Amino acid sequence: KTRVYKFGNKVADGDSTMRNLLGGKGANLAEMSKIGIPVPPGFTITTEVCTEYNELGREAVVQMIKGDVEAAIENIEQIMNAKFGDKDNPLLISVRSGARVSMPGMMDTVLNLGLNDDVVLGLAEKTKNERFAWDSYRRFIQMYGGVVLGMKPESKEDIDPFEEIMEHLKEKRDIELDTEFSIQDLKDLVYDFKDAVKKRTGHDFPTDPWDQLWGAVMAVFNSWNGDRAVYYRNMNGYPADWGTAVNVQAMVYGNMGDNSGTGVCFTRDAGTGENMFNGEYLINAQGEDVVAGVRTPQQITKIGSKRWAELAKIEEDERAEKYPSLEELMPAIFNELNEYQDKLEKHYRDMQDMEFTIQEGKLWILQTRNGKRTGAAMVKIAKDLLDEGLISEEEAVMSIEPNKLDELLHPVFDPKALKSSNVIAQGLPASPGAATGKIVFFADEADKYKSSILVRIETSPEDLEGMNIAKGILTARGGMTSHAAVVARGMGKCCVSGAGALKIDYKKRTLVVDGKEFHEGDWLSLNGSTGNIIEGKVATVEPDLSGEFAEIMKLADKFSSMQVRTNADSPKDAKVARSFGAQGIGLTRTEHMFFEVDRIKAMREMILADTVKGRKEALKELLPMQREDFEGIFEAMQGLPVTVRLLDPPLHEFVPHQLATQKDLAEEMHITLEAVKSKVSELEEFNPMLGHRGCRLGITYPEITEMQTRAILEAALNLKERGIETIPEIMIPLIGTVAEFENQEAVIRATANEVFEERGATVKYLVGTMIEIPRAALLADKIAEKADFFSFGTNDLTQMTFGYSRDDAGKFLPIYLKRGILKVDPFEVLDRDGVGQLVQLGTQRGRSTKENLKVGICGEHGGEPSSVEFCYETGMNYVSCSPYRVPIARLAAAQAAI
Ligand code: ADP
Ligand code: MG
Ligand code: MG
Repeated sequence: KTRVYKFGNKVADGDSTMRNLLGGKGANLAEMSKIGIPVPPGFTITTEVCTEYNELGREAVVQMIKGDVEAAIENIEQIMNAKFGDKDNPLLISVRSGARVSMPGMMDTVLNLGLNDDVVLGLAEKTKNERFAWDSYRRFIQMYGGVVLGMKPESKEDIDPFEEIMEHLKEKRDIELDTEFSIQDLKDLVYDFKDAVKKRTGHDFPTDPWDQLWGAVMAVFNSWNGDRAVYYRNMNGYPADWGTAVNVQAMVYGNMGDNSGTGVCFTRDAGTGENMFNGEYLINAQGEDVVAGVRTPQQITKIGSKRWAELAKIEEDERAEKYPSLEELMPAIFNELNEYQDKLEKHYRDMQDMEFTIQEGKLWILQTRNGKRTGAAMVKIAKDLLDEGLISEEEAVMSIEPNKLDELLHPVFDPKALKSSNVIAQGLPASPGAATGKIVFFADEADKYKSSILVRIETSPEDLEGMNIAKGILTARGGMTSHAAVVARGMGKCCVSGAGALKIDYKKRTLVVDGKEFHEGDWLSLNGSTGNIIEGKVATVEPDLSGEFAEIMKLADKFSSMQVRTNADSPKDAKVARSFGAQGIGLTRTEHMFFEVDRIKAMREMILADTVKGRKEALKELLPMQREDFEGIFEAMQGLPVTVRLLDPPLHEFVPHQLATQKDLAEEMHITLEAVKSKVSELEEFNPMLGHRGCRLGITYPEITEMQTRAILEAALNLKERGIETIPEIMIPLIGTVAEFENQEAVIRATANEVFEERGATVKYLVGTMIEIPRAALLADKIAEKADFFSFGTNDLTQMTFGYSRDDAGKFLPIYLKRGILKVDPFEVLDRDGVGQLVQLGTQRGRSTKENLKVGICGEHGGEPSSVEFCYETGMNYVSCSPYRVPIARLAAAQAAI
């Protein structure tokens, strides 16, 4: 087994296909060496060694790779014509981490390794540059101290212990920049740094270069299990056994004076995708100086430099003199860099993010990787690369992360305005978008201001209307599947949920964050894509969905064989979804229509009625409203299929729980307050989600099913008269037995016949069911004998298969995820192992008795890419998701098919 892979001098043991073994950085360093890009020579210790280190420990691993590492160092020495640890002709090296995926800033790197009190003198002598030698030495002690010796800030209020020493000296010398230190200052710093190490750790700073090397290698291995890296890994679902590789590489020096420097660059704009080479650099600097912002970095290209100066309000004269571009300052180097960026992008066939260093007029490339980018840039770059003939249509579709499309669909904060904004707290990015408005604390006051942000501890179904009116929703409690989050995503409304730092006082109408008090009417802004809560008003801009976005979506549809429908409860939602390319409605939740002010009243009367007669009267009031809704939805969908689910939620969600509203209702209905109260408490259930809901309502109160069927079919008939063909699909919720289905189907068919007879006309309609109770999945073959279609309701199916109440899971799911008991939230990503079995089994059994049974999914999972892939593999006809997730599902469906 090879554990050490060499690269440099236009050859390499590895290549870019070996990222799992060599890490992304190592694989690309090898590849660049091979294709003739000037890369400082070095070697990569594999990720497998990291795993071995975790199992066997330091001594065993050193024994295992010592010979290989010594040989690889010798190889560098030969190429660089210098010697590691030598006083007169020293070779210095960097020790860099590098996992298979890039984890920016999560792990550690040490530069200038190999220096000690003797070597620094030799380096000064050899380079005839004493300042450079001591600058490198102080940087080395600083980095090694931090990464290997644990010299980190002692508390979160403290700054880095070395920075603190430097700040003191700057004050004493009355200087601002690192570059202003005198040689003597740098020597003093080295002394003080070492002193600080001795004081804090009790040990002298290691002087033997080989000790330093092994210390750094082990520190990089350890950084894989550091807090930051573990958090990042968990967040992205990267397993612990991937490990990190270690790259050891000859140093090149950007800090040797005014003909040296360092920088980072992108082959295209990572924010917009524009095909424009861009980046930043600093003269006489090393490593992270550019990113860390020790000085104002300069732009690589002249155009970039001018654009930058304009934003920074710097006059052209001053720009050209103080902040010239690399293109202007070092034209030859710029041309060479420009050549490499072009070559690398063509070679990797994707936008590259590169690091480079200039040492005394010679250019070195230190890293290249596929650059991270915004959703907008992702789409534009895919389309451009396709047009440029660099990638195929399939590759263009595959290159887009479906979830990233979300960013494109909602109004966005003006990036300029965002720069000067103040983030007061963070919650979960529950529903993307940018919202700005005045704080209200009660849903029924959402219309108090033209733009409002509804701030709640949590929301309930009663808040629906207010949520719809508000520009954004902010909750202190609840996760990504909380009521607020689910409803907001459905509405395409910006929502930040579960912001624990908020202290909301409904009585005082105040919101306190970190000691700062906000009042009703104060401006607040929410970034639903990041979870940021921002003080004040931030300007937004509408997204543009034409152009590349439209073309990429068209391309996706070319490959996908599974349809994408939407969950829509109103004509408005239906229209939005159609504009995003929905091919039908997979779920209309009829109950959402009842929450509007004038309807909830009739609904409550229906619920509170004691007799069938009373109920029927109230239902009669509801009928025209429902019919009107369905007409609007059918019309919006223009002949595309529409699935309507009959009433599903427990009735207690509709009745008033506040005294004032109860009094109003009693008055209107001419009954006593006591009667209202007793009915409300009668409806209370111990376990409403397993209680009187779903088809159990229609079975106990068939007149509800009758009214809804009538509304659906009359609406379809009305449209038919206007020349619009509709085939309504009536869906019975929550069945667990065949008999339940048969019972409701009979009511539906009888009502249909009645309606058709009355009208002297007919329409085609289907009667199908949701499969959301495990028993229904098991008996799918029997059910399919009767049902025209299946729609897997994976929210309830997940709830019932796991036995996790969706509304209470927020209490333990986060802990499960943190401890690794669950890898992902099963309400977000469909659980293939368990719930998935029921879905597959239900589909197979269903189709065993009805070969062409139409099968779809309508849970939240229908818009989640990996779940969409699963649905494709299961052979579903369609997935259905909230309007704003339609493009995501379309893309995911295409990717599943490619
Ligand atoms: P990260 O993965 O956090 O970017 P890197 O290993 O890329 O860390 O290194 C951090 C910085 O040090 C980068 O700016 C890189 O270019 C620079 N660097 C790394 N190795 C060398 C080297 N051998 N010579 C000069 N600069 C280096
Ligand atoms: Mg890097
Ligand atoms: Mg359900």
